[in-house]
Amino acid sequence: MTLPTPSSHPALTAADPELAALVGAEERLQADTLRLIPSENYVSQAVLEASGTVLQNKYSEGYPGRRYYEGQQNIDQVELLAIARAKALFGVEHANVQPYSGSPANLAVYLAFAEPGDTVMGMALPMGGHLTHGWGVSATGKWFRGVQYGVRKDTGLIDFDEVRELALKERPKVIFCGGTALPRTIDFAAFGEIAREAGAVLVADVAHIAGLIAGGAHPSPVPHADVISTTTHKTLRGPRGAMLMSREEHAKAIDKAVFPGLQGGPHNQTTAAIAVALHEAAQPSFRDYAHAVVANAKALAEELLARGFDLVSGGTDNHLILMDLTPKDVPGKIAAKALDRAGIVVNYNTVPYDPRKPFDPSGIRIGTPSLTSRGLGVQDMAAVADWIERGVTAARSGDEDALAVIRSEVAALMSGFPAPGLPA
Ligand SMILES: *Cc1c(COP(=O)(O)O)cnc(C)c1O
Repeated sequence: MTLPTPSSHPALTAADPELAALVGAEERLQADTLRLIPSENYVSQAVLEASGTVLQNKYSEGYPGRRYYEGQQNIDQVELLAIARAKALFGVEHANVQPYSGSPANLAVYLAFAEPGDTVMGMALPMGGHLTHGWGVSATGKWFRGVQYGVRKDTGLIDFDEVRELALKERPKVIFCGGTALPRTIDFAAFGEIAREAGAVLVADVAHIAGLIAGGAHPSPVPHADVISTTTHKTLRGPRGAMLMSREEHAKAIDKAVFPGLQGGPHNQTTAAIAVALHEAAQPSFRDYAHAVVANAKALAEELLARGFDLVSGGTDNHLILMDLTPKDVPGKIAAKALDRAGIVVNYNTVPYDPRKPFDPSGIRIGTPSLTSRGLGVQDMAAVADWIERGVTAARSGDEDALAVIRSEVAALMSGFPAPGLPA
Protein backbone atom coordinates (compact mmCIF):
# COMPACT_ATOMS: atom_id res chain seq x y z
CA MET A 1 0.00 0.00 0.00
CA THR A 2 1.37 3.45 -0.84
CA LEU A 3 0.46 6.12 1.63
CA PRO A 4 0.01 9.74 0.57
CA THR A 5 2.72 12.11 1.74
CA PRO A 6 1.73 14.74 4.32
CA SER A 7 0.74 18.13 3.01
CA SER A 8 3.22 20.26 4.90
CA HIS A 9 5.67 18.58 7.26
CA PRO A 10 8.99 18.66 5.39
CA ALA A 11 11.27 18.05 8.39
CA LEU A 12 9.14 15.20 9.66
CA THR A 13 8.96 13.67 6.21
CA ALA A 14 12.74 13.84 5.84
CA ALA A 15 13.53 12.54 9.33
CA ASP A 16 10.90 9.83 9.60
CA PRO A 17 9.10 9.06 6.36
CA GLU A 18 7.37 6.08 7.91
CA LEU A 19 5.68 8.14 10.60
CA ALA A 20 5.12 11.06 8.24
CA ALA A 21 3.25 8.75 5.89
CA LEU A 22 0.91 7.77 8.70
CA VAL A 23 0.24 11.43 9.48
CA GLY A 24 -0.43 12.02 5.81
CA ALA A 25 -2.84 9.11 5.71
CA GLU A 26 -4.68 10.49 8.73
CA GLU A 27 -4.91 13.92 7.09
CA ARG A 28 -6.43 12.26 4.03
CA LEU A 29 -8.85 10.24 6.17
CA GLN A 30 -10.01 13.30 8.12
CA ALA A 31 -10.45 15.21 4.86
CA ASP A 32 -12.47 12.57 3.02
CA THR A 33 -14.76 11.26 5.73
CA LEU A 34 -17.83 12.51 7.53
CA ARG A 35 -16.69 12.53 11.14
CA LEU A 36 -19.69 12.15 13.42
CA ILE A 37 -18.03 11.21 16.70
CA PRO A 38 -19.50 13.81 19.07
CA SER A 39 -16.36 14.16 21.20
CA GLU A 40 -14.15 14.99 18.20
CA ASN A 41 -13.61 18.18 16.23
CA TYR A 42 -11.26 20.02 13.88
CA VAL A 43 -9.04 22.61 15.62
CA SER A 44 -8.01 25.83 13.91
CA GLN A 45 -4.65 26.36 12.23
CA ALA A 46 -3.76 28.70 15.11
CA VAL A 47 -4.43 25.98 17.70
CA LEU A 48 -2.42 23.49 15.63
CA GLU A 49 0.48 25.91 15.48
CA ALA A 50 0.40 26.83 19.18
CA SER A 51 0.53 23.18 20.20
CA GLY A 52 3.60 22.64 18.03
CA THR A 53 5.79 25.40 19.47
CA VAL A 54 9.02 25.38 21.50
CA LEU A 55 6.88 25.76 24.62
CA GLN A 56 7.11 21.97 24.38
CA ASN A 57 10.70 22.27 25.63
CA LYS A 58 9.96 23.77 29.05
CA TYR A 59 9.50 22.28 32.51
CA SER A 60 7.29 24.41 34.78
CA GLU A 61 6.16 22.53 37.89
CA GLY A 62 4.15 24.87 40.08
CA TYR A 63 1.97 27.82 39.15
CA PRO A 64 2.70 31.29 37.68
CA GLY A 65 4.96 33.18 40.10
CA ARG A 66 5.39 30.02 42.24
CA ARG A 67 7.44 27.65 40.10
CA TYR A 68 10.03 25.08 41.09
CA TYR A 69 12.02 25.91 37.92
CA GLU A 70 13.67 29.10 36.67
CA GLY A 71 13.30 30.51 33.16
CA GLN A 72 9.52 30.91 33.42
CA GLN A 73 9.36 34.54 32.23
CA ASN A 74 7.27 33.69 29.19
CA ILE A 75 5.62 30.49 30.37
CA ASP A 76 4.08 32.32 33.35
CA GLN A 77 2.54 34.83 30.94
CA VAL A 78 1.17 32.06 28.73
CA GLU A 79 -0.50 30.32 31.65
CA LEU A 80 -1.83 33.59 33.10
CA LEU A 81 -3.33 34.43 29.72
CA ALA A 82 -5.05 31.04 29.49
CA ILE A 83 -6.38 31.41 33.05
CA ALA A 84 -7.67 34.96 32.48
CA ARG A 85 -9.41 33.92 29.26
CA ALA A 86 -11.03 30.87 30.90
CA LYS A 87 -12.31 33.01 33.78
CA ALA A 88 -13.73 35.64 31.44
CA LEU A 89 -15.29 33.17 29.00
CA PHE A 90 -17.03 31.00 31.59
CA GLY A 91 -17.60 33.67 34.23
CA VAL A 92 -15.77 31.84 37.01
CA GLU A 93 -13.54 33.07 39.84
CA HIS A 94 -10.84 30.43 39.46
CA ALA A 95 -9.44 28.33 36.63
CA ASN A 96 -6.73 25.68 36.60
CA VAL A 97 -5.57 24.95 33.05
CA GLN A 98 -2.98 22.28 33.88
CA PRO A 99 -4.87 18.95 33.92
CA TYR A 100 -3.45 16.68 31.21
CA SER A 101 -6.90 15.57 30.09
CA GLY A 102 -10.46 15.11 31.32
CA SER A 103 -9.85 11.91 33.27
CA PRO A 104 -6.96 13.27 35.35
CA ALA A 105 -8.94 16.48 35.89
CA ASN A 106 -11.71 14.42 37.45
CA LEU A 107 -9.21 12.44 39.52
CA ALA A 108 -7.94 15.76 40.89
CA VAL A 109 -11.48 16.62 41.96
CA TYR A 110 -11.70 13.41 44.01
CA LEU A 111 -8.30 14.11 45.50
CA ALA A 112 -9.45 17.61 46.49
CA PHE A 113 -12.80 16.69 48.04
CA ALA A 114 -12.85 13.00 49.09
CA GLU A 115 -10.84 10.34 50.91
CA PRO A 116 -10.37 6.79 49.61
CA GLY A 117 -13.41 4.72 50.51
CA ASP A 118 -15.78 7.70 50.58
CA THR A 119 -19.07 7.50 48.75
CA VAL A 120 -19.25 9.35 45.44
CA MET A 121 -22.12 9.59 43.02
CA GLY A 122 -22.40 9.89 39.27
CA MET A 123 -24.35 8.71 36.29
CA ALA A 124 -23.83 5.05 35.39
CA LEU A 125 -21.61 4.56 32.34
CA PRO A 126 -24.19 2.52 30.36
CA MET A 127 -26.75 5.27 31.00
CA GLY A 128 -24.48 7.91 29.48
CA GLY A 129 -22.11 8.80 32.32
CA HIS A 130 -18.31 8.72 32.16
CA LEU A 131 -15.93 6.06 33.49
CA THR A 132 -14.48 8.57 35.93
CA HIS A 133 -17.85 9.25 37.58
CA GLY A 134 -17.36 6.25 39.90
CA TRP A 135 -17.86 3.37 37.46
CA GLY A 136 -16.47 0.05 38.74
CA VAL A 137 -13.64 -0.63 36.28
CA SER A 138 -12.28 2.91 36.79
CA ALA A 139 -9.91 3.83 39.62
CA THR A 140 -12.71 6.16 40.72
CA GLY A 141 -14.98 3.17 41.28
CA LYS A 142 -12.27 1.05 42.89
CA TRP A 143 -10.90 3.64 45.32
CA PHE A 144 -14.27 5.18 46.16
CA ARG A 145 -17.71 3.71 46.75
CA GLY A 146 -19.52 4.71 43.59
CA VAL A 147 -23.29 4.96 43.67
CA GLN A 148 -24.92 5.52 40.32
CA TYR A 149 -28.04 7.10 38.92
CA GLY A 150 -29.50 6.70 35.44
CA VAL A 151 -32.29 7.84 33.19
CA ARG A 152 -35.91 6.73 33.13
CA LYS A 153 -36.68 3.85 30.82
CA ASP A 154 -39.83 5.46 29.43
CA THR A 155 -38.42 8.95 28.74
CA GLY A 156 -34.65 8.54 28.48
CA LEU A 157 -34.42 11.53 30.84
CA ILE A 158 -32.81 11.91 34.27
CA ASP A 159 -35.30 11.29 37.07
CA PHE A 160 -34.51 13.97 39.66
CA ASP A 161 -36.68 12.31 42.30
CA GLU A 162 -34.47 9.24 41.99
CA VAL A 163 -31.27 11.32 42.08
CA ARG A 164 -32.45 13.18 45.18
CA GLU A 165 -33.54 10.02 46.97
CA LEU A 166 -30.22 8.32 46.23
CA ALA A 167 -28.20 11.37 47.30
CA LEU A 168 -30.07 11.74 50.60
CA LYS A 169 -29.80 8.02 51.34
CA GLU A 170 -26.13 7.59 50.38
CA ARG A 171 -24.78 11.03 51.37
CA PRO A 172 -21.98 11.14 48.78
CA LYS A 173 -19.06 13.53 49.27
CA VAL A 174 -19.09 14.39 45.57
CA ILE A 175 -21.85 14.31 42.95
CA PHE A 176 -20.96 14.37 39.27
CA CYS A 177 -23.41 15.53 36.63
CA GLY A 178 -22.75 15.52 32.91
CA GLY A 179 -21.76 12.65 30.69
CA THR A 180 -20.77 11.25 27.35
CA ALA A 181 -24.05 10.20 25.74
CA LEU A 182 -26.63 12.70 27.01
CA PRO A 183 -28.64 14.24 24.17
CA ARG A 184 -30.61 16.58 26.44
CA THR A 185 -29.98 19.81 28.36
CA ILE A 186 -28.51 19.21 31.80
CA ASP A 187 -30.51 20.84 34.58
CA PHE A 188 -27.62 22.17 36.66
CA ALA A 189 -29.98 24.05 39.01
CA ALA A 190 -31.79 20.81 39.93
CA PHE A 191 -28.48 19.04 40.58
CA GLY A 192 -27.24 22.03 42.61
CA GLU A 193 -30.28 21.95 44.86
CA ILE A 194 -29.90 18.20 45.48
CA ALA A 195 -26.16 18.53 46.19
CA ARG A 196 -26.76 21.30 48.73
CA GLU A 197 -29.47 19.28 50.42
CA ALA A 198 -27.19 16.24 50.60
CA GLY A 199 -24.12 18.24 51.67
CA ALA A 200 -22.16 17.13 48.60
CA VAL A 201 -19.77 18.95 46.31
CA LEU A 202 -21.42 19.24 42.89
CA VAL A 203 -19.11 18.75 39.93
CA ALA A 204 -20.46 19.69 36.52
CA ASP A 205 -18.41 17.68 34.03
CA VAL A 206 -19.13 19.63 30.86
CA ALA A 207 -16.43 17.96 28.72
CA HIS A 208 -18.82 17.41 25.84
CA ILE A 209 -20.72 20.68 25.96
CA ALA A 210 -18.12 23.27 27.05
CA GLY A 211 -18.15 24.86 23.61
CA LEU A 212 -21.92 25.05 23.60
CA ILE A 213 -21.85 26.72 27.01
CA ALA A 214 -19.14 29.17 25.91
CA GLY A 215 -21.17 29.98 22.81
CA GLY A 216 -24.44 30.42 24.68
CA ALA A 217 -26.09 27.32 23.17
CA HIS A 218 -26.43 25.43 26.48
CA PRO A 219 -27.14 26.87 29.98
CA SER A 220 -24.08 27.44 32.16
CA PRO A 221 -23.42 25.43 35.33
CA VAL A 222 -22.39 28.72 36.99
CA PRO A 223 -23.50 29.36 39.78
CA HIS A 224 -25.04 25.95 40.53
CA ALA A 225 -21.90 23.77 40.50
CA ASP A 226 -19.07 23.96 43.03
CA VAL A 227 -16.58 22.72 40.46
CA ILE A 228 -16.68 22.68 36.67
CA SER A 229 -14.55 20.09 34.96
CA THR A 230 -14.05 20.17 31.21
CA THR A 231 -11.88 18.85 28.48
CA THR A 232 -10.72 21.46 25.99
CA HIS A 233 -10.77 19.30 22.84
CA LYS A 234 -14.44 18.49 22.25
CA THR A 235 -16.98 21.20 21.36
CA LEU A 236 -14.59 23.82 22.80
CA ARG A 237 -12.38 23.06 19.78
CA GLY A 238 -9.02 23.37 21.50
CA PRO A 239 -6.05 21.03 22.00
CA ARG A 240 -6.32 17.79 23.96
CA GLY A 241 -6.33 19.00 27.55
CA ALA A 242 -8.63 19.96 30.39
CA MET A 243 -9.52 22.67 32.89
CA LEU A 244 -11.01 22.81 36.37
CA MET A 245 -12.98 25.91 37.32
CA SER A 246 -14.57 26.99 40.59
CA ARG A 247 -15.36 29.76 42.99
CA GLU A 248 -12.39 31.23 44.87
CA GLU A 249 -13.20 29.20 48.03
CA HIS A 250 -12.16 25.96 46.28
CA ALA A 251 -9.17 27.39 44.38
CA LYS A 252 -6.50 26.19 46.81
CA ALA A 253 -7.89 22.66 47.11
CA ILE A 254 -8.12 22.25 43.35
CA ASP A 255 -4.68 23.67 42.61
CA LYS A 256 -3.05 21.50 45.29
CA ALA A 257 -4.79 18.43 43.96
CA VAL A 258 -3.63 18.99 40.34
CA PHE A 259 -0.07 19.83 41.42
CA PRO A 260 1.60 18.40 43.45
CA GLY A 261 -1.24 16.00 44.21
CA LEU A 262 -1.57 14.29 40.88
CA GLN A 263 0.68 15.71 38.19
CA GLY A 264 4.19 16.95 37.55
CA GLY A 265 5.01 19.58 34.95
CA PRO A 266 2.19 21.11 32.92
CA HIS A 267 2.22 20.67 29.14
CA ASN A 268 2.99 24.27 28.23
CA GLN A 269 2.43 23.87 24.50
CA THR A 270 -1.06 22.64 25.36
CA THR A 271 -1.63 25.54 27.76
CA ALA A 272 -0.71 27.89 24.91
CA ALA A 273 -3.11 26.19 22.53
CA ILE A 274 -5.85 26.30 25.19
CA ALA A 275 -5.28 30.06 25.45
CA VAL A 276 -5.70 30.36 21.68
CA ALA A 277 -8.85 28.23 21.68
CA LEU A 278 -10.35 30.30 24.50
CA HIS A 279 -9.60 33.47 22.54
CA GLU A 280 -11.34 31.99 19.51
CA ALA A 281 -14.29 30.85 21.64
CA ALA A 282 -14.75 34.43 22.88
CA GLN A 283 -15.36 35.73 19.34
CA PRO A 284 -18.87 36.33 17.98
CA SER A 285 -18.20 33.74 15.25
CA PHE A 286 -17.88 31.05 17.90
CA ARG A 287 -21.39 31.86 19.18
CA ASP A 288 -22.56 31.26 15.62
CA TYR A 289 -20.62 27.99 15.57
CA ALA A 290 -22.13 26.72 18.84
CA HIS A 291 -25.67 27.54 17.72
CA ALA A 292 -25.03 25.96 14.32
CA VAL A 293 -23.83 22.75 16.00
CA VAL A 294 -27.15 22.50 17.83
CA ALA A 295 -29.23 23.52 14.80
CA ASN A 296 -27.48 20.84 12.73
CA ALA A 297 -28.03 18.18 15.39
CA LYS A 298 -31.73 19.04 15.67
CA ALA A 299 -32.12 18.98 11.89
CA LEU A 300 -30.26 15.68 11.63
CA ALA A 301 -32.42 14.20 14.42
CA GLU A 302 -35.60 15.22 12.54
CA GLU A 303 -34.30 13.65 9.33
CA LEU A 304 -33.41 10.42 11.15
CA LEU A 305 -36.80 10.26 12.89
CA ALA A 306 -38.46 10.71 9.50
CA ARG A 307 -36.50 7.64 8.32
CA GLY A 308 -37.79 5.51 11.18
CA PHE A 309 -34.76 5.66 13.48
CA ASP A 310 -35.29 5.32 17.23
CA LEU A 311 -33.51 8.15 19.06
CA VAL A 312 -32.99 7.90 22.82
CA SER A 313 -35.17 10.58 24.49
CA GLY A 314 -36.79 11.18 21.10
CA GLY A 315 -34.27 13.72 19.80
CA THR A 316 -31.63 16.17 20.96
CA ASP A 317 -31.13 19.56 22.62
CA ASN A 318 -27.39 19.67 22.03
CA HIS A 319 -24.69 18.34 19.68
CA LEU A 320 -25.33 14.63 20.22
CA ILE A 321 -27.75 11.95 19.05
CA LEU A 322 -27.96 8.48 20.57
CA MET A 323 -29.63 5.96 18.26
CA ASP A 324 -31.07 2.61 19.31
CA LEU A 325 -30.76 0.37 16.24
CA THR A 326 -32.84 -2.47 17.69
CA PRO A 327 -35.83 -1.66 15.41
CA LYS A 328 -33.47 -1.66 12.40
CA ASP A 329 -32.35 -5.17 13.34
CA VAL A 330 -28.62 -4.33 13.23
CA PRO A 331 -26.30 -4.39 16.28
CA GLY A 332 -24.50 -1.09 16.93
CA LYS A 333 -21.03 -2.48 16.32
CA ILE A 334 -21.89 -4.00 12.94
CA ALA A 335 -23.54 -0.72 11.90
CA ALA A 336 -20.61 1.38 13.15
CA LYS A 337 -18.05 -0.75 11.30
CA ALA A 338 -20.10 -0.70 8.09
CA LEU A 339 -20.55 3.07 8.30
CA ASP A 340 -16.80 3.40 8.78
CA ARG A 341 -16.28 1.51 5.51
CA ALA A 342 -18.75 3.99 3.99
CA GLY A 343 -16.63 6.96 5.15
CA ILE A 344 -18.97 7.85 8.02
CA VAL A 345 -17.18 7.69 11.35
CA VAL A 346 -19.36 7.01 14.40
CA ASN A 347 -19.01 4.96 17.55
CA TYR A 348 -21.07 2.06 18.80
CA ASN A 349 -22.57 2.83 22.18
CA THR A 350 -24.80 1.34 24.83
CA VAL A 351 -28.31 2.73 25.07
CA PRO A 352 -30.04 3.01 28.47
CA TYR A 353 -31.22 -0.43 29.70
CA ASP A 354 -29.30 -2.04 26.83
CA PRO A 355 -29.95 -5.80 26.81
CA ARG A 356 -26.68 -6.31 24.87
CA LYS A 357 -23.08 -6.18 26.17
CA PRO A 358 -21.06 -2.90 26.26
CA PHE A 359 -18.59 -4.32 23.70
CA ASP A 360 -21.48 -5.27 21.41
CA PRO A 361 -24.29 -2.83 22.24
CA SER A 362 -27.54 -1.81 20.56
CA GLY A 363 -26.76 1.76 19.65
CA ILE A 364 -24.58 4.20 17.84
CA ARG A 365 -23.68 7.70 19.02
CA ILE A 366 -23.31 10.55 16.56
CA GLY A 367 -22.79 14.30 16.79
CA THR A 368 -22.37 17.46 14.76
CA PRO A 369 -19.34 19.39 16.17
CA SER A 370 -16.94 18.25 13.42
CA LEU A 371 -19.21 18.58 10.40
CA THR A 372 -20.24 22.04 11.61
CA SER A 373 -16.56 23.03 11.84
CA ARG A 374 -16.23 21.90 8.22
CA GLY A 375 -19.06 24.30 7.31
CA LEU A 376 -21.97 21.91 6.71
CA GLY A 377 -25.37 23.40 7.53
CA VAL A 378 -28.95 22.31 8.19
CA GLN A 379 -29.53 22.05 4.42
CA ASP A 380 -26.95 19.21 4.33
CA MET A 381 -28.50 17.10 7.08
CA ALA A 382 -30.97 15.27 4.83
CA ALA A 383 -28.02 13.94 2.82
CA VAL A 384 -26.24 12.88 6.01
CA ALA A 385 -29.37 11.08 7.26
CA ASP A 386 -29.76 9.40 3.86
CA TRP A 387 -26.21 8.06 3.98
CA ILE A 388 -26.74 6.77 7.52
CA GLU A 389 -29.97 5.06 6.47
CA ARG A 390 -28.40 3.51 3.38
CA GLY A 391 -25.30 2.52 5.39
CA VAL A 392 -27.35 0.82 8.11
CA THR A 393 -29.43 -1.00 5.48
CA ALA A 394 -26.23 -2.12 3.74
CA ALA A 395 -24.81 -3.23 7.09
CA ARG A 396 -27.82 -5.48 7.59
CA SER A 397 -27.60 -7.05 4.13
CA GLY A 398 -23.79 -7.09 3.93
CA ASP A 399 -23.84 -4.99 0.76
CA GLU A 400 -20.21 -3.83 0.44
CA ASP A 401 -20.82 -2.26 -2.97
CA ALA A 402 -23.46 0.05 -1.51
CA LEU A 403 -21.00 1.09 1.24
CA ALA A 404 -18.36 1.88 -1.39
CA VAL A 405 -20.81 4.06 -3.30
CA ILE A 406 -21.66 5.99 -0.13
CA ARG A 407 -17.95 6.41 0.59
CA SER A 408 -17.34 8.10 -2.76
CA GLU A 409 -20.40 10.32 -2.39
CA VAL A 410 -19.25 11.39 1.09
CA ALA A 411 -15.72 12.16 -0.13
CA ALA A 412 -17.15 14.19 -3.03
CA LEU A 413 -19.26 16.34 -0.70
CA MET A 414 -16.52 16.77 1.91
CA SER A 415 -13.99 17.92 -0.70
CA GLY A 416 -16.02 21.14 -0.83
CA PHE A 417 -15.54 21.75 2.91
CA PRO A 418 -11.84 22.17 3.73
CA ALA A 419 -10.48 22.22 7.28
CA PRO A 420 -7.17 23.43 8.78
CA GLY A 421 -4.22 21.12 8.31
CA LEU A 422 -5.97 18.89 5.81
CA PRO A 423 -4.92 18.24 2.22
CA ALA A 424 -7.15 19.87 -0.42
C1 LIG B 1 -14.34 12.98 27.37
C2 LIG B 1 -14.84 13.01 28.77
C3 LIG B 1 -13.97 12.87 29.86
C4 LIG B 1 -12.54 12.41 29.74
O1 LIG B 1 -11.71 13.09 28.97
P1 LIG B 1 -10.33 12.43 28.47
O2 LIG B 1 -9.63 13.62 27.95
O3 LIG B 1 -10.71 11.42 27.43
O4 LIG B 1 -9.65 11.82 29.63
C5 LIG B 1 -14.48 13.02 31.14
N1 LIG B 1 -15.78 13.28 31.32
C6 LIG B 1 -16.64 13.39 30.31
C7 LIG B 1 -18.07 13.69 30.59
C8 LIG B 1 -16.21 13.25 28.99
O5 LIG B 1 -17.08 13.35 28.00
